[in-house]
Amino acid sequence: MRPDQLTPLFAAARSLAGIGLRMEILLKKALRLPPGVNEPRVIDLLWHTPTGVIDRRATPTVAAALPGTIATLEVRVGKHKPAPRGNTRAPYKVICEDDSGRIDLVFFHAERRFIERQLPTGSVRTVSGRVESYNDRKQMTHPDYIVAPEVRADLPLLEPIYPLTAGLSGKVLLKAARQALERVPHLPEWQDWAWLAQRGWPDARSALLRLHRPQDAHDVSPASPPWQRLAYDELLAGQLALALVRQSLKSQPGRQVVGDGSVRARIADALPFGLTGSQRQALQEIAGDMASPHRMLRLLQGDVGSGKTVVALMAMAVAVEAGTQAALMAPTEVLARQHADTIAPFAEAADLRLALLTGREKGRTRTELLQRLAAGEIDILIGTHALFQTDVLFQDLAFAVIDEQHRFGVHQRLALQSKGGGGRGAGVLVMTATPIPRTLLMTHYGDLDVSKLTEKPAGRKPVVTKSLPVDAIERLIDRLRVQLTEGAQIYWVCPLIEGSEKSELAAAQERHAHLSQRFGADAVGLLHGAMPDKIKDATMSAFAAGTLKILVATTVIEVGVDVANANIMVIEHAERFGLAQLHQLRGRVGRGSRESYCMLLHKPPLGDAARQRLEMLEATEDGFKIAEKDLELRGGGEVLGARQSGMPEFRLATVPNFAELLAAARDDARLVLAQDPRLTSPRGEALRLLLYLFECDEAVRLFRAA
Ligand code: ADP
Ligand code: MG
Repeated sequence: MRPDQLTPLFAAARSLAGIGLRMEILLKKALRLPPGVNEPRVIDLLWHTPTGVIDRRATPTVAAALPGTIATLEVRVGKHKPAPRGNTRAPYKVICEDDSGRIDLVFFHAERRFIERQLPTGSVRTVSGRVESYNDRKQMTHPDYIVAPEVRADLPLLEPIYPLTAGLSGKVLLKAARQALERVPHLPEWQDWAWLAQRGWPDARSALLRLHRPQDAHDVSPASPPWQRLAYDELLAGQLALALVRQSLKSQPGRQVVGDGSVRARIADALPFGLTGSQRQALQEIAGDMASPHRMLRLLQGDVGSGKTVVALMAMAVAVEAGTQAALMAPTEVLARQHADTIAPFAEAADLRLALLTGREKGRTRTELLQRLAAGEIDILIGTHALFQTDVLFQDLAFAVIDEQHRFGVHQRLALQSKGGGGRGAGVLVMTATPIPRTLLMTHYGDLDVSKLTEKPAGRKPVVTKSLPVDAIERLIDRLRVQLTEGAQIYWVCPLIEGSEKSELAAAQERHAHLSQRFGADAVGLLHGAMPDKIKDATMSAFAAGTLKILVATTVIEVGVDVANANIMVIEHAERFGLAQLHQLRGRVGRGSRESYCMLLHKPPLGDAARQRLEMLEATEDGFKIAEKDLELRGGGEVLGARQSGMPEFRLATVPNFAELLAAARDDARLVLAQDPRLTSPRGEALRLLLYLFECDEAVRLFRAA
């Protein structure tokens, strides 16, 4: 499928000289690979952009070289002076000189043979590194580069600095990146010429060359023309892919799924509450999509606790009324089970046949379930990403709900869509509890249809939110004791420690031990990701049943868990969490009739951004306001906060003028497709290449099928 021209770029990075198995593992850590890619490839090196440069352009004489500066010197190699025998702490020195004076090259713990090979006495060498002064003599300790005259051109006068990982040296990465550059073919121009000229942007190949072989320190800045160009390429590819998906969906004769309302009526009778206005409105919009002849792709946004599950259930009921099947997919096993548990009583009341499929259903159970599914004996299937497995075949899937979608990529959404019977793709409803600001919505979903749940279900109480320094913890514990005697239940979330699951776990275990000591081991439970599923379930159930009073957890409880009686949320090291995440966590409480609290324990002094985050939470519970603030605090560069929100990340488009470029890319994509819907013009052909380059293969395939 992918054009041959791009094949060398998608080869494994291991095909490059100097990259073996060990390096591959390190590269995997250092490079941000797209979801689903496990082996670093050549292209991943190209998208790994430098964060700065080391300027080696100063080429003074030895006499003029300033101590403390980086210089590149041309010297004659003189005598070698190894460290005296038995003195391992003394360095190995090589005396060098030019016509202006002497400089010693100094090596600690040196391997003699290596130095002798690099610096033969009597040869001329170019050395680059930091000039020092020691006992009034000039020296250079461990020069960064020592090169012979014939390979002088290999010495990077402006050396790009790449983000690294322990064990991976900048030199290895530089060498690999340079080899990757050599594989970049001459590419046809896919951007509009006038636009390029107006911006003063180079062509894509030159842009990559400038980034990885900078000629000016500014070249590696996200505001530089080469970077801007590539950022725009990435944005345009994304917008074009979304527009193609949309065009393809809208152009397909989607099925019309119309129910008679019977199942919905039975569910409504069984519900202990009436639907809110915005739930009714959303349902109407969804049923409207399903009944229309177009393919459906709608986003349902609603804050935590706004009641999305009921909307999903009612919408799935429409599909069942129409004699078809529906699926609901959750991002985690815990959530999938919880959805199944919540929905089960209503399903029973309405005679719906419900089944659960996660990674845990195996062997005979799974086989039987799949048979029933294919035979149409299951109306609603709830599960995790296990639903994507190729042997999961529905008899007639007409409607799929994806909960907390930001954990999934576009690819997976498309995969689920293609599971509809007879090539008639299912309508998709994506639900998210993270209110997404307009800009982000556009980036990830294009002009998706959106329904919003703006009202909270009746009877919801506000959550009193307080930020407390961590040294107030004992006072807090005393107050919690009082609350517990009144029937409270407490979530206690332990710190998120970047890049270290182990210590996160250790912190939770430690807190669990501490609280067990205070409140009794029977009252305090522990929940973390590394636990066996059985124990996880048992702990959750004990908390839901009220046997456990306090649940100490790592962030596994972040999404969706619903225990109505829990009314206190304590978050340790709240300053380390993102705003959206804190808001989500807080949403776990305030669901019952009890007065609810959220305690943000933090370690002073707070940085400015952290202080603003905590203040914002104290001030409001409005998820949309919080999302906007979040965006503002994180600023343009990290505008997507992809890592925090779990959204697919941009690799180049983390630029200061992101919003402006995005808007331009969106307009551009629309214009292109309006004029050339099948991408057959010369620019259209080139744009297909762009889509492949940024791995929007699915979009191209879709568009071919259309
Ligand atoms: P979300 O998934 O949007 O975070 P849920 O669907 O889990 O929220 O709903 C949260 C709680 O609110 C559940 O206990 C649910 O039964 C309840 N709920 C949903 N809709 C209503 C309503 N209209 N009135 C009262 N309670 C509701
Ligand atoms: Mg939910």
